[in-house]
Amino acid sequence: MNYRKKPFEEIPEESTDVWSCTQDGCKGWMRNNFTFASEPTCPLCSSAMVPDTKMLPLLVNTTGIKGIR
Ligand SMILES: [Zn+2]
Repeated sequence: MNYRKKPFEEIPEESTDVWSCTQDGCKGWMRNNFTFASEPTCPLCSSAMVPDTKMLPLLVNTTGIKGIR
């Protein structure tokens, strides 16, 4: 058997709601479900943020709350 372990576990990704920074050149963003403000500001530059989506690794939600809109 020539079985090689993969260096990384495969983590499934899903389209995740995020907030993206509106500042040009700033890569600030945060997961939507980690913010409770209706209009959060960028943690990096304090600019306004807009709703966006990213493909992100599935996150185990330790709170057990998922899909609440
Ligand atoms: Zn920013």
